[in-house]
Amino acid sequence: MGDGAIGIFPPGPFFLQWTAMNPHADKPLHVCVLGAGIVGLATAWQLHQQGHRVTVLDRARAGSGASAANGAQLSYAYVQPLADPGIWRQLPRLLLADDSPLKLRLRPDLHQWVWGLQFLAACRTPVSLRTTASLLALAAESRAGFERLMNEERIQCDFSTTGKLVLYPDATSFSSARRQMQLQQALGGSPQHALSPIESVAVEPALASYAGRFAGAVHTPGECAADCHKVCLELQRLLQARGVRFAFDTPVTQLRRSGGRVVAAETPQGAIEADAFVVALGTASHPLARSLGLRVPVYPLKGYSLTVDASDAPGATPRVSVTDAARKVVFARIGQRLRVAGMAELVGEDMSIPADRVASLVATARALFPEASRYEELRPWAGLRPATPTGLPVAGRLRGGPSNLLFNTGHGALGFTLAFGSAQRIAAQLAPPRKVAIRPFPAAPAACSA
Ligand SMILES: Cc1cc2nc3c(=O)[nH]c(=O)nc-3n(C[C@H](O)[C@H](O)[C@H](O)COP(=O)(O)OP(=O)(O)OC[C@H]3O[C@@H](n4cnc5c(N)ncnc54)[C@H](O)[C@@H]3O)c2cc1C
Repeated sequence: MGDGAIGIFPPGPFFLQWTAMNPHADKPLHVCVLGAGIVGLATAWQLHQQGHRVTVLDRARAGSGASAANGAQLSYAYVQPLADPGIWRQLPRLLLADDSPLKLRLRPDLHQWVWGLQFLAACRTPVSLRTTASLLALAAESRAGFERLMNEERIQCDFSTTGKLVLYPDATSFSSARRQMQLQQALGGSPQHALSPIESVAVEPALASYAGRFAGAVHTPGECAADCHKVCLELQRLLQARGVRFAFDTPVTQLRRSGGRVVAAETPQGAIEADAFVVALGTASHPLARSLGLRVPVYPLKGYSLTVDASDAPGATPRVSVTDAARKVVFARIGQRLRVAGMAELVGEDMSIPADRVASLVATARALFPEASRYEELRPWAGLRPATPTGLPVAGRLRGGPSNLLFNTGHGALGFTLAFGSAQRIAAQLAPPRKVAIRPFPAAPAACSA
């Protein structure tokens, strides 16, 4: 585990955990899921599927945090963590250039400094390799979980198997991308191909005017895109129809403890009691953990998006999801809209949307896809990725934490992609003991933790 503060429960037999959570082992649990972002809702879905009684609470509405208008990419094969050894080479430019997609505002905040140092410590080849392997495994589980939901419930979320092209600006970055591609293939990732600019235009004709401005691309034909907010609303609808209780506009202010367990989530509207609690509050998971004397290594990594109406003209709007690796901007077609998203800022909880960031996204979009839209109605948005230093989410109990309190957070730039995988892992930890004989809990290193 890259972060010493985090432990995954159970270290011992599965049954012990089940009895600790549920003294009446023959009955389903009442589980309270804190947070109705994509991670909380996917968790609620898995727990409900497993027969538990579920209550979901959120200070706002479903999908109103980082899940509202993200990059829309289901990036199952392209999971390279931000904590990459290559960052050392790029760091001076990333920190100093005016048009850098990365921004760092140092604050008098110990959590920010510790997170930053842990991030730099994670920018080493062995850590990056381990993280990539774990993320690929989790992404494959997530894909299976999301596809099951899609097939069984036919949800409406502008889903399409777009494939994905990641464009590299120069020979150096393209050759390091090819090495990462080979690594991912060796780890059993989906098929990927390195393409020249001309081959890339054959895959995505909307790139025609940009062909002279990148050195090559990695194409992953199996990648997908969908509207994460619509998935959230569909999950809410399905769960409500099955009797799951939602408490919206209900902020959790603290967790009440008794005898090594959490007994209730306190809110201004009253306390919600349950047998077990899953914290899926995105970046707000950290302060809640801290109020219990625990540390979740999650820091906000701010990003922005635009959503523009897309032109129907042939070859104008990309059908393939595209990432411009140099500018760290992603493009995804969702229905009749084009989502443009990117940037990474360590600026605390600041949710402002500066005009220069919007202008920079528009300029990038116009450079790559000048005919895709008139770029008039931009619908700018800012969101906070709940990021861990390594890029691996936390999905389980914290070492030293209450026995019936699990965290499901820290999915960073891949929360939509990974949500159904980590939800299944949480559900596995709350599965009744008879499941043990069928599918034992994975050993600790396979569970995901920062
Ligand atoms: C610009 C950008 C682009 C991205 N692109 C992609 C992409 O293309 N693909 C991908 O897979 N991922 C992407 N991500 C990442 C993804 O959006 C996040 O990882 C994911 O949305 C996190 O989901 P979550 O449920 O953990 O958090 P959130 O969606 O933030 O949900 C947390 C919920 O907790 C609630 N809450 C907070 N505090 C309290 C409280 N005290 N009481 C009650 N409720 C509370 C909030 O209201 C919110 O609804 C992107 C993110 C950004 C910002």
